[in-house]
Amino acid sequence: MLTVHDVREILLNRDYSHSTLTALLETNGEALQTLFDEAEAYRRNVSGTRVYFRGLVELSNICAKDCFYCGVRCSNRSVQRYTLSLEEVVEAARFAHRNGFASMVLQSGERADKRFVDMVAELLQAIHIATRGELHITLSMGEQSRETFQRWYDLGAHRYLLRIEASVPDLYLRLHPEDGKHRYEHRIESLHLLKDIGYQTGTGVMIGLPFQDTAHLASDLLFFRELDIDMVGMGPYIEHDQTPLFQYRHLIPSTEERFWLSMKMVAILRLMMPDINIAATTAMQAIREGGREFALKVGANVVMPNLTPTRYRENYLLYKDKPGTAQDAEDTTENLTRMIHAARLEVALGEWGDSTHYQKRLIQ
Ligand code: SAH
Ligand code: SF4
Repeated sequence: MLTVHDVREILLNRDYSHSTLTALLETNGEALQTLFDEAEAYRRNVSGTRVYFRGLVELSNICAKDCFYCGVRCSNRSVQRYTLSLEEVVEAARFAHRNGFASMVLQSGERADKRFVDMVAELLQAIHIATRGELHITLSMGEQSRETFQRWYDLGAHRYLLRIEASVPDLYLRLHPEDGKHRYEHRIESLHLLKDIGYQTGTGVMIGLPFQDTAHLASDLLFFRELDIDMVGMGPYIEHDQTPLFQYRHLIPSTEERFWLSMKMVAILRLMMPDINIAATTAMQAIREGGREFALKVGANVVMPNLTPTRYRENYLLYKDKPGTAQDAEDTTENLTRMIHAARLEVALGEWGDSTHYQKRLIQ
């Protein structure tokens, strides 16, 4: 077990090797408190205190994929499927714009059919017109062809989130069916395509999965750094009883442990990559009240108020007990602002909030 002194040494020397990362992920007690304190100080002094809002719109829960962990996988017949109308999405975009969010995330189940690709293209155009091109758009719609990624980029999508889910291929394999539609190599290729095209590229993982240990998570942290990623959205895995992975729930850490592991991941990543955007994700809040606030304190700088019209939310349950399913958008925004101020951080309204990492990457 690392001592307080060991943690200080590692951070001072910026010694982020696989073995030190694994050890940091296993710290507890005073040594862990030191890690959190150092990450918080580093965040304030180096990364800054600004927190950006991204309005999240869950466009559709129709998905062609069958990931073993996800509640909206195509084999789950108990989900009522929906797709928002163009008007509903544009209304959410206007709300985000009016409230100074400057940016929205459109997330959806994965579909690559022409109808879907065209619909997203149309949405991008409509949002652009409705918000005079002032609202930045992040897409999170899974793997697509180069042409699709390029087309959406040309229509004004600036950022793309595609979690690798688990960066160690063996673990990835255990979480996805081997049916040709869920290939690790393809996911990696997609991440490279996104970067090539010019997207600010985000990825991430789930934390506390069955079959996962701290060595896997250390590899995930190194993966983010090697890929030179601009944004990270990661969060605890939360089991869903209508999914195949549910049978392995006895193998996952307790909710308490998953929460602290997630906070360690945020803190360490902030120390490793001071200029990227890190999201305080909904799953962090789902697993523990005050979870997002803690994540912001130790290094996250993005929150994503949910702008999906309330009546659809109960059908976008990637995992159980997702919060905010009964709140309306205004409520959530107010709560988040209060929470950010309570963490002694600033709400950066009206700013696009591009990661400084991305800006530097463009200059090089
Ligand atoms: N279909 C797209 C985007 C929507 S899913 C995609 O898969 O990329 C968004 C994220 O939800 C996934 O990347 C996954 O990391 C997360 N997710 C799915 N099921 C989850 C679960 N049971 N617990 C925690 N996160 C989950
Ligand atoms: Fe579909 Fe994404 Fe869920 Fe996988 S994680 S089943 S791609 S929505």
